[in-house]
Amino acid sequence: MFVGGQWRLASGGEHIDVIDPVTEKVVGQVPAGTAQDVDDAVRAARAALPGWAATPPARRGAVLAAVRDLMAARRADIVATVQAELGAPAAFAAAVHTDMPTAVMGTFADLAAEHPFEEKVGNSRVYQEPVGVVGAITPWNYPLHQIVAKVAPALAAGCTVVLKPAEDTPLVAQLFAEILAAAGLPAGVFNLVTGLGPVAGQALAEHPGVDLVSFTGSTAVGRRIGAAAGGAVKRVALELGGKSASVILPGADLPRAVNVSLANVFANSGQTCSAWTRMLVDAERYDEAVELAAAAAAKYRPGERLGPVVNARQRDRVRGYIRKGAEDGARIVAGGPDAPEDLGTGYYVRATVLADVEPEATVAQEEIFGPVVVLIRYQDEEDALRIANGTVYGLAGAVWGPDEETAVAFARRMDTGQVDINGGRFNPRAPFGGYKQSGVGRELGAHGLAEYLQTKSLQF
Ligand code: NDP
Repeated sequence: MFVGGQWRLASGGEHIDVIDPVTEKVVGQVPAGTAQDVDDAVRAARAALPGWAATPPARRGAVLAAVRDLMAARRADIVATVQAELGAPAAFAAAVHTDMPTAVMGTFADLAAEHPFEEKVGNSRVYQEPVGVVGAITPWNYPLHQIVAKVAPALAAGCTVVLKPAEDTPLVAQLFAEILAAAGLPAGVFNLVTGLGPVAGQALAEHPGVDLVSFTGSTAVGRRIGAAAGGAVKRVALELGGKSASVILPGADLPRAVNVSLANVFANSGQTCSAWTRMLVDAERYDEAVELAAAAAAKYRPGERLGPVVNARQRDRVRGYIRKGAEDGARIVAGGPDAPEDLGTGYYVRATVLADVEPEATVAQEEIFGPVVVLIRYQDEEDALRIANGTVYGLAGAVWGPDEETAVAFARRMDTGQVDINGGRFNPRAPFGGYKQSGVGRELGAHGLAEYLQTKSLQF
């Protein structure tokens, strides 16, 4: 763990094994942090806060730019680490798990320098000041991206941070701590406590010395963290689950829409909170879409294009959902709950397409977090909108229309935070976050930075 600029072991002397999901072998060990370790880290962050908050934003941006450059320089190490602890295929580990967070770090290096931290409003001068000490709790699905999406804006804002990364993927967090220190970040500004969620995570979320808790993960844990933050009247940002819809409207390019939607779902073995896990197709072209989806899914071979899921528990959970879908009447047209042939080891789940799924079925309502897509038939646009908006979630989505205007009109009526129009590209500066139970707050870009700022006005 990295506390107050020093590497140390857990105060309780315990450790956690880190397992490679491909080989099922232990690839590393990290300290299992205790409440005492969290307390030490929060104290270090509080002690470092006045100095970092008073550092000119442009100087903070320069440190973040150095971090970005070091991330780029250590690209091969990051790729190897994420491959080892998450099992991601090499090309995906490089492009998405490494280059994307490096680019995001760059956006906050720029934003720190560009952002108007001070403005005049009539006879007032309004200052945006750092919220204080941030407790960041991150999941394993995009280990480095999730960390950077919280730590970079927090540091740009002038906050100090204690990070508790996921127990399945703590090694890249250690590498990141090394990079921050090498980039010249003062001691105590960033602290890392590895450990278990209900121990180190909970201690961090409930620590009175933490001013803002930023959490990404399951809705169940997020709800608990939100309740504790409410009780303490403390700021909280929650990035939770999703059950996003890819809506293919009449007149859209069907093969492209189906192929891109499947690529979105199966990327990262389906472990993406914003994945378009429900595909909505009009009754007229539904059968054609099912055929296209089944053919495309067959190309995602486990062990090649499709990596494993993170651990045995997730594998069993995802397979359980596939079985439940079939029991509830879905037709398995690709993949299925059985282990892939020829793969004796690794936590693999086959790329699965469930057709003829009712909008209210469990597999169409709950976040599965594996390579599983459900195909739902709709009758007309109003029906499509009702289905698209018919879950407790509202994180992302896609609309495929005959033209941009039609797709945008539909997207504006969706209860969701981010929608890609006719295959629109990922934008690292666009606000990311959810409507409804998908969360509270936004990450990335200027909106993400704003989460870590509080405002003060002086009147003259
Ligand atoms: P969790 O919500 O349990 O984990 C997310 C983070 O929270 C981890 O760092 C975890 O630590 C920590 N944590 C766990 N319990 C507590 C607690 N009581 N107090 C504070 N922190 C805690 O997700 P899981 O890993 O269990 O995944 C389960 C499901 O959650 C997935 O199948 C998926 O549906 C959803 N999920 C959604 C994500 C998203 O991006 N929106 C990401 C990950 C999961 P530890 O790693 O030690 O458990």
